[in-house]
Amino acid sequence: MQNTHQINARWIITVDNENTVLENHALIIQNDIILDILPQADAIKYKPEQVSDLNEHAIFPGFINAHTHAAMSLLKGLADDIPLQEWLNEHIWPAETALADEDFVNDGTELAIAEMIKSGTTCFNDMYFFINKTAEVVIQSGIRACLGIPIIDFPTRWAKDLPDYISKGLAVRERYNNDKLLNFCFSPHAPYTVSDESLKTIQPIMDELGIRMHMHVHETESEVSQAISENGMSPLDRLDDLNLLSPDLLTVHMTALNNADIQKLATHGVHVVHCPESNLKLASGNCPVTKLTNAGINVALGTDGSASNNDLDMLGEMRTAALLAKGVTKKANALPAYLAMRMATINGAKALGMDNEIGSLEVNKQADIVAIDLNTIETQPVYDVISTLVYSASRSQISDVWVAGKQLMAHHKLTTIDASELLKKTKNWQKKVYPFHHQSY
Ligand SMILES: [Zn+2]
Repeated sequence: MQNTHQINARWIITVDNENTVLENHALIIQNDIILDILPQADAIKYKPEQVSDLNEHAIFPGFINAHTHAAMSLLKGLADDIPLQEWLNEHIWPAETALADEDFVNDGTELAIAEMIKSGTTCFNDMYFFINKTAEVVIQSGIRACLGIPIIDFPTRWAKDLPDYISKGLAVRERYNNDKLLNFCFSPHAPYTVSDESLKTIQPIMDELGIRMHMHVHETESEVSQAISENGMSPLDRLDDLNLLSPDLLTVHMTALNNADIQKLATHGVHVVHCPESNLKLASGNCPVTKLTNAGINVALGTDGSASNNDLDMLGEMRTAALLAKGVTKKANALPAYLAMRMATINGAKALGMDNEIGSLEVNKQADIVAIDLNTIETQPVYDVISTLVYSASRSQISDVWVAGKQLMAHHKLTTIDASELLKKTKNWQKKVYPFHHQSY
């Protein structure tokens, strides 16, 4: 059945190759795809069954959050103002060991997805355990996701050893592989928690299935110096030695990079996922985004988990990325607004190998669309709508969200998630998680 929907918008931020912004145009959705984008007066020919008048709004391609640990939203605010290793070893991992079961992943992921939809994210690239549950919640909510099959060299509640991690992960992929909202990759946690043997085992499986790898790499300087003293080479050189540097690799964080590293990433077409707020909050360091971009490397944007951010707000993440790049380089044009917008959308799609389907508003792409009301005190006047979005707008102005043509938020209300039920479940978890809390004062 052909279901046609016309969205009239004051601005359409397409994020096409020319960064085209259209004014007073209409976008026509047919089923799950964008059928046309044209002047509003010409749209009558499509005889749409539904028309949304968003003539004070900008619409833009849904954000692609290229690095998340969705279920960790239940650990938001658990341990703040302490460095990465103390945060992981003394708070996060003990809480996860005690509590992170299927129910935790179910409820934590639902909490994350509700926050992501409300803030305009339509696709997320996740790394966590119990991906069977993550997949269920993704399908129920209607959001799009790439789920990482987790690999780590110690037992967790999800799996006991490498063969167990692989077989459980692949079973979930097998079950959902034909679902259009789900994609899969391998997610080895980090070079310091995954051995060469483990990486060598998953590499041929990746190649055979044609799926990518998503890994934390060079998150801090101490990760790099410790690896050099233990193995005689940096984590990035180790991955190079294992022939893992390629366009199929998404490296997350990348704060400690020298010029030779950057050259290597460019040569092999490796993608980098920049997580500025997580890096700032854990005092991990700074990813040299401007140098990477200038070297032609695809840089996407991620929030990381809510336990180290502490939100999943891609509008905020774009602003932080743009301001941070200016601050560290002392160059006001180091990361302009339009580039932050590309990092949060089309660059994420490229990193996931999905740029033919999502990441921009163009004919024949999936209708993953976000509308934001700019007729507010905070965002008027508007001279450059992309600048307004990156530097002035806040997520509470986001009013409507569609994924694959299905409306997941209408007039600020979630349509697939019961928000009050979700709040009740979240408060129950708060009681169980509280004993692992770090009080900083
Ligand atoms: Zn992470």
